[in-house]
Amino acid sequence: MNRQSTRAVKLLGDMLEENDNTQQESTADRGDGGITDKVTPMMEQYLDIKAAHADCLVFYRMGDFYELFFDDAVAAAAALDITLTKRGKHQGDDIPMCGVPVHAAESYLPRLIRKGFRVAVCEQTEDPAEAKKRGSKSVVRRAVVRIVTPGTLTEDVLLDARANNYLAAIGRSRGDYALAWADISTGAFHVAMLQPSDLDGELARIRPGEILVSDGLEADGELPGLADWRPVLSPRAAMAFDADQGQRHLRETFGLAVIDALGADNRAAFGATGAILGYLVETQKLQLPRLAAPVLEVVQGAMVIDAATRRNLELMETLSGQRDGSLMAVIDRTVTGPGARVLATWLAAPLTTAGAITARLDAVGYFVTGAPLRGQIRSTLRQAPDMERALSRLAVGRGGPRDLAGIRDGLIQADAIRGLLSAQSGSLPGSLADNLPPLLTQLAVALGDHAAVVDRLRAALRDELPMNARDGGFIAPGYDAAFDDFRTLRDESRRLIAAMESRYKDETGLQGLKIRHNNVLGYHIEVKPKDATRLMEAPWNGQFTHRQTMANAVRFNTPDLAALASRIAEAEVRALAREMELFEDLQARVLALWDDVMAAARALAAFDVTTALAELAEAERWSRPVVDDSLAFSITGGRHPVVEAALRKARNGPFVPNHCALPPDARLWLITGPNMAGKSTFLRQNAVIAILAQMGAYVPAEAAHIGIVDRLFSRVGAADDLARGRSTFMVEMVETATILTQAGARSLVILDEIGRGTATYDGLSIAWAAVEHLHEINRCRGLFATHYHELKALSARLSSLALHAMKVKEWQGEVIFLHEVGPGSADRSYGIQVARLAGLPPKVIARAEEVLSRLEEGEQAGTLTKLADDLPLFAALKPRRVQGPSPLDEAMKAINPDDLTPKAALELVYKLKGLAVKDD
Ligand code: ATP
Repeated sequence: MNRQSTRAVKLLGDMLEENDNTQQESTADRGDGGITDKVTPMMEQYLDIKAAHADCLVFYRMGDFYELFFDDAVAAAAALDITLTKRGKHQGDDIPMCGVPVHAAESYLPRLIRKGFRVAVCEQTEDPAEAKKRGSKSVVRRAVVRIVTPGTLTEDVLLDARANNYLAAIGRSRGDYALAWADISTGAFHVAMLQPSDLDGELARIRPGEILVSDGLEADGELPGLADWRPVLSPRAAMAFDADQGQRHLRETFGLAVIDALGADNRAAFGATGAILGYLVETQKLQLPRLAAPVLEVVQGAMVIDAATRRNLELMETLSGQRDGSLMAVIDRTVTGPGARVLATWLAAPLTTAGAITARLDAVGYFVTGAPLRGQIRSTLRQAPDMERALSRLAVGRGGPRDLAGIRDGLIQADAIRGLLSAQSGSLPGSLADNLPPLLTQLAVALGDHAAVVDRLRAALRDELPMNARDGGFIAPGYDAAFDDFRTLRDESRRLIAAMESRYKDETGLQGLKIRHNNVLGYHIEVKPKDATRLMEAPWNGQFTHRQTMANAVRFNTPDLAALASRIAEAEVRALAREMELFEDLQARVLALWDDVMAAARALAAFDVTTALAELAEAERWSRPVVDDSLAFSITGGRHPVVEAALRKARNGPFVPNHCALPPDARLWLITGPNMAGKSTFLRQNAVIAILAQMGAYVPAEAAHIGIVDRLFSRVGAADDLARGRSTFMVEMVETATILTQAGARSLVILDEIGRGTATYDGLSIAWAAVEHLHEINRCRGLFATHYHELKALSARLSSLALHAMKVKEWQGEVIFLHEVGPGSADRSYGIQVARLAGLPPKVIARAEEVLSRLEEGEQAGTLTKLADDLPLFAALKPRRVQGPSPLDEAMKAINPDDLTPKAALELVYKLKGLAVKDD
C-alpha cells in the first residue's frame, strides 16, 4: 500500500475512532468505505475552525499528519505539488483532501508562505484517550495554536539568517501617520511618525515581510507609497489600528513609561504599535513573542533616501531583484547572520550626525590598524550562533535544547571577545584596553559577564542535542540527581531484561531465544519457529503466552516480562517528564536574562560589522572619509565598488578612479560624454561614497571629505513601471518632480539624462529648466549627466555650474573610452560609433551616418524642416559599400570559367543570383 493510501485508511480510522463509534455511523462507513454523508462531529469541529480562519489554509492535525480539506486541499496540493485525494462526503460531494507529515511541515510551510498563503496550525490539544473518557462520541479537542504569516516567522528554516524579517503596521490618527515595525525573531520593535511622502522611502529602507494596513486606508489610495508593497499587505479592520486600544495594549505589555517615551500626542504611533501587538495575539495565540519596548525613531535622524534612489543605486538588490551584484553583496564581509543584519541596517540608514558617524569610523579604524586583533575577533565570531533568534524562539515556546546551547556558545564567544579586548597588562584584571574607542568600549561592556548561566548550561547539556525537547536525551549525567535516578532505573531495567533473557535461555534450553522490542508489541520474547512448540507445551505454556507467528519467528510474552516492561516504560516516561521540567527551568533562567543576553547578542553583531568593514577597507584599499557639518563634497580618486568588482571578475581592465569636487562655486556639475563612457558609473559612485561614509564605513577613494548629506536623490536608468501603469517617461518625470520639489542645500542629487524619453526639443527644454531650478532654487550639491550639449550654454549664466566631460579618444574611426572625467564639455555623442560597437547592421550604421550629416547640415542652414524631402527613403537609397568586398565579389573572384562544366556553370548562376539578392 502506498504512503498516501495508508494515510487515507489511517485517517478514516482516526475519524471513526474519534467520533463515529455509534452503531449507525459505523454501519454507514462500512457501506461506502468512506465518511458518512451526515456531518460528523469531527467535520463539524473542522468547519467551525475553518470558519474562524477563513483567510488561512487550516493545517488540521490528525495523528502524524496535518490534513487539509475542501478548497484548502485543492489550493495546497497545487502549491506544494502533492497528491490531492478525496475521502468521504460532505453534503453529497466528495471531500478533497491532502496532507503533509508533521515532521516535514517546516519544509512545506515556507513554500506556502512564499506563495502568499497564511497557514492556521490546528493542533490536538488533548490526548485522544482523554477524549474517549468523555464518551464514545466525543471529538479530540483541537485549537489553532498559531497562524503562520510572512511577518511572524521564528524558525531558522523559514528565515533568511542574514536579513531581518519585519512585520510593519501603518497607523493614522487625525491626519498624522506612523509606521511601526517589529522583528519577532530578534525582538526589535520601532515606530516612527512620518509624512505620507516619506512612507515610500521608509518601507524601502525597512523592507518588511508583511505590512498591516487598515482596509480603509488601503482602499483610499491615499498612500501611493503602498503600491509597490501590494503582495505583502495584510489588510485588517480599521478597529485594529485604534489609538486608544493601542495605548492600552502598550501599557499592559510594557508599562506606563512607554507611553511617555512614544509621546502622548503621537496617537498614530499607538495605533500602529497596537496593531502589531494585536496581530501577534491573533497569530501567535498561546505564547506571545517577546519584544523590546518600541523605540520612537526620528525619520530625519538618518539620510533620507527615497525608494527610487535605493532601487537605482542597487543598495540591497540589483534592478532585477538579485542580491548578487548589489552594493550590500560587495561590501558584506560579516561572518554571522546577526552581523549581516546589522550591516544591512547601517547601509539602509546612513547617519546624519557627524559625532555618531565619527564614533563608528573610530571603531572601524581601530580594527583597520589592529589586523591581528581583528582576525582573532572574526574567528571567535565565526563560532557564535545566532543568539537573537534562539532567544526569540525560546520566548515563543518554539525553542529546543539546541537553542539553549546556542545561547551558551554565543555567551562563551562574547566572553572570549571581551577577553581579547582586555588590557594586556592592565592594572585591574579584566579591565578593557584603554586605547579602545568609546563605541568599542560601550560594546565590550554590553557583552557582559554571563559566567553563571554559561556554567549552568555547560553542566546541564550533553554534546549531542535533539532538535526538540520532547525527544529527550539532552540533559547531561550528573546535572540533576532526580533525573539521574530515573535514568539509572531505566538503564537498570535494561540490564534486568538482559538477565531475564539469559535466565529464559537457561531454563528453556533454547539458546536462540531473544527478548526484543518493537513499537507494536513492545517487549516480547522471540524464538525460531522450530523452537516455538516447546514454549506452547507444558510446562512452559503456563508461563509463555503466544503473541504472534511470523514466517521466521514466533513471539511470546510472560507476566514477568510484562511487569518489567511496564517498569521500564514508567521510568522512561518519568525520565522524559523530568527532562522537560529541567528544560523549562533552563529556558526560564535564560529568559530571565533576556535584556542582557540580547545586549550581548547585539554587541557581537556590532563587533562583526565593525571588524568586517575594517577587513573590507584593508582588502580593497579604502580610506577613512572626513565627515563633518560643512557643505563640502570632495572625493579624490573615487571608485564604484560594484563596477570595480565586476571588472575585476571579468578581467576587463582596471577601474579608472575619478575625482569629484563640489565647492560652492562649482556645486552643480554638468557632465557630458558619449554613451558607455562611464557617466552613470561616475554619478552613482559619488552617491555610494556618500552613503558608505555616513554609515560609518571607509570609502573606495584615496580621500573623501563629505559635509553631511541629509537627503540623497537619484534619477538614473530608465524603467517602465507597467504594474502601476506608468511609462518610462512618466516614471522619469515623477522621480524628477520629487527631486525638484524636495531637494535642499544639504541634499546630494544625481540626475542622469533627464528628458531623454521624449522628443528632442521637449527633452532639452525640460533638462534646461531642471538645471536652472537645481541651481537657483534647490541650491543643492549635484551631478547632472546629459547628452544635450546645448546645456553647456547655461554655464555662462549659472555661476556655480561647472562643465565636465567623459574623455574619449578617436582612433581609426573608432571611439575609445578612457573613463576619465575632466573639465570641459563633449562636442558630440558618438552614439553611432557606440551603436556600431553594439553590432547594429552595417547598413543601418551607414544610413544613420548619412542622416546625421544631413541633419547637421540642415540645422546649420536652417532648413531642418525640409529634411524628409531631401532624404530619399531607406529602401530607395542606393546601397553603399560598407566595408571590404561583399560575398558576391568574393564568389566572382573565385570563378575560373575554363574549369566549369555546363552543369556547374548553371548551378553557379543560381548561386550568384542568390548572393546578389542577399547583398541588396
Ligand atoms: P549610457 O549613457 O549608455 O548609460 P554611461 O556613460 O552612463 O553610458 P556607464 O554605464 O557608466 O556609461 O559605463 C559603461 C561601462 O563602462 C561600465 O559598465 C563599465 O564596464 C565601464 N566603466 C564605467 N566607468 C568606468 C571606470 N571609471 N573605469 C573603468 N571602466 C568603467
